[in-house]
Parts: sequence; C-alpha cells; structure tokens
Amino acid sequence: MGKGTVVEALLRRDASLWLSRSWTTRQQRKGEASDAYVFTDPSSFEARIAVGGFLEWTEFLGNYYGTPLPEAPEGKDVVLEIELDGAQQVRERHPDSLLVFVLPPSRAEQERRLRRRGDPDDKVEARLRKAEQEEPIGIALADVVLVNDDLDEVVSQLAQVIVDERTRRQPRSD
Ligand code: 5GP
Repeated sequence: MGKGTVVEALLRRDASLWLSRSWTTRQQRKGEASDAYVFTDPSSFEARIAVGGFLEWTEFLGNYYGTPLPEAPEGKDVVLEIELDGAQQVRERHPDSLLVFVLPPSRAEQERRLRRRGDPDDKVEARLRKAEQEEPIGIALADVVLVNDDLDEVVSQLAQVIVDERTRRQPRSD
C-alpha cells in the first residue's frame, strides 16, 4: 500500500475532495485500473506541454507524468498524488497549496511494497535510489510529513490535517 492506497481511502472519507487524474507515458501495470491514469504516448504528452496544458509535469525514471489543466469542479478541494519535482512546481504556482510528504516506514518495507506490485528488479532499485535522494528535500519542502505505516492511522492523520487546514483558512465571522 503506497501513496495511491492512502489517497483512495482518504477520498472515500471526505466527499469534498476531488482527485486529479494524471497523464503518464508509463505502461499500464498488470492489474492496474485502466482509469488510474490517462495512459498516453510521448508525442501526445509533448503536444499538451507545448500548449501549456499541464499545471505541472515531470519526467520520472524515463516516463512523463503530469497534472492536466483545467481543474476541479466548483467547491471541491483538489488532491494531487504526485512526486517531488511536481510538488515544487505546484508550490510555485500555488503558494497556498498544502504539501504533505508521505514517507514509507522504512526502505526495506518500501522495497517489499514495490516488489509485491510486480515491478521488475531494475525499476525497484531505481525507485529506491530516487527515494533516497528525494526524501530530505521533500521533508524540507512539505508542510506536513506523515509515515505510511498503518493505513488506517495515516489516513486518519491526513484527514485531520485537511480538517485543521480548512479551519485555519476559514474567514472569521467576528
Ligand atoms: P507510478 O509509476 O508509481 O504510478 O508513479 C511514479 C511517481 O509519479 C509516483 O511518485 C507518483 O506519485 C508520481 N506521479 C503520479 N502522477 C503524477 C503527476 O501528474 N505529476 C507528477 N509530478 N508526479 C506524478
């Protein structure tokens, strides 16, 4: 259970959240839902970059990933489940965004999770190396850091972070 599982559970709990569906040029994994992403090819992705059609995009281990514009339905809070480079771009374009960095409980557990979903060895190693480099940067950038150990617990913590943030932003009536 990676970040995706956490976000899915969060969305089931909070009906005012809306999850953006990313574009990617990565191949669909075996057993992965066909609507997990908009699976596309590099030339379509690049054409969309050229017309400014992404809020943010990045190249992650040889594939493009990006958040398409336009955005959410009225009245919903937008959730992006993205990696570090994209989060940095979002922070620049939307300084008021709330950045939550979700850490695996340990590198060994992260490795088990990656292998369990069937990623090949070289991909697993590349992802672990990338995580190693990015974690200190992510921790420094994020507003909140959570450890993805127990699913129910991390989802509750995340839901609470959002409730607190909404309260903080509410205009005071007095
Ligand atoms: P995966 O291939 O495991 O689905 O995703 C690889 C990484 O890309 C994950 O860290 C995931 O959160 C991130 N990612 C997914 N969608 C996007 C996106 O639209 N933009 C960016 N910057 N990263 C994304």
